[in-house]
Amino acid sequence: MSGRAGRPILRLHGPPNLGDATVTDTHPEITPGPAGGSVPGLPPLGAHVSVAGGLARAVERGIEIGATALQVFTGQPQRWAEPDLGEDDVRRYRDALAGSPIGIVASHDSYLINLATERAALLEKSRAAFEAELERCQRLGIDHLVTHPGNATGGDREAALRQNAAAIGAALLANPGPTTVLVETTAGSGTALGWRFEELATLIDAVPADVRGRVGVCMDTAHVFAAGYDLRTEYGEVMDAFDRTVGLERLHLFHVNDSRAGLGSRVDRHAHLGEGELGEAGFVGLMRDSRFVDVPRILETPKDDDGTAADRRNLDFLRRLARGA
Ligand SMILES: [Zn+2]
Ligand SMILES: [Zn+2]
Repeated sequence: MSGRAGRPILRLHGPPNLGDATVTDTHPEITPGPAGGSVPGLPPLGAHVSVAGGLARAVERGIEIGATALQVFTGQPQRWAEPDLGEDDVRRYRDALAGSPIGIVASHDSYLINLATERAALLEKSRAAFEAELERCQRLGIDHLVTHPGNATGGDREAALRQNAAAIGAALLANPGPTTVLVETTAGSGTALGWRFEELATLIDAVPADVRGRVGVCMDTAHVFAAGYDLRTEYGEVMDAFDRTVGLERLHLFHVNDSRAGLGSRVDRHAHLGEGELGEAGFVGLMRDSRFVDVPRILETPKDDDGTAADRRNLDFLRRLARGA
């Protein structure tokens, strides 16, 4: 994700993180989205929102931006400490969601997790943290757990992909429930796995067969662009390549981000839609592709000073493209 260092640490418990520009302590007027959670012809649309103040507050933030899909952290993305998720938190979240137009929710796992590491201690910590992530998602009824393939710091990328797959498989076996694990396409900086579609295919194929059906892909537009796939001029070819390697049926979520970094730069920097290297041309193909009309799109774009306004503006951009305006 862009600006990992700058991304606020979100807390499920405790006082709101006042350093988090996305947090509003007042309760702005809530503008309800469309009833029923879907708009004919439009895919589910939303953003990653802060969980400061509790997961139920995240649902309110989603309603404020007119979202029909949402992404959250259920833990602290930059700390190993596991949150204490009480039954009350779960119930409040489920009640808030049931009364909202939001029809689909994803959670993004901690950035510290590296299921591909060759270091035994880090692997053990990562496995435990990933299982805890999945367990929280199952309790909350979250649809998708998005996870970045790890970093092959040991050098053997094939072995690292197989190890990553085995860890995902073990977590799924230990945690039955509705949540699907979505492996995210990466920009491929450093030793990051999963920037080539072939690597995602290798990883998924290595997941034990009995749980492989619970694994899919989240495609991040900024990441695939930075990895060298040109969504501006070769949208059809990029999707064909994905179909040949991974299979379009495995594509369950899009992260829709513009990129401050150039094509093939292998650098992960998100920008507001239409204001980065992808520009408007980078999103037209995706927003008008009827094959993905049911596949949700989540913004991970900058929040600036007013996250609600920024998210609304970026969602309007997507709706305008989808309508062909
Ligand atoms: Zn990113
Ligand atoms: Zn992403």
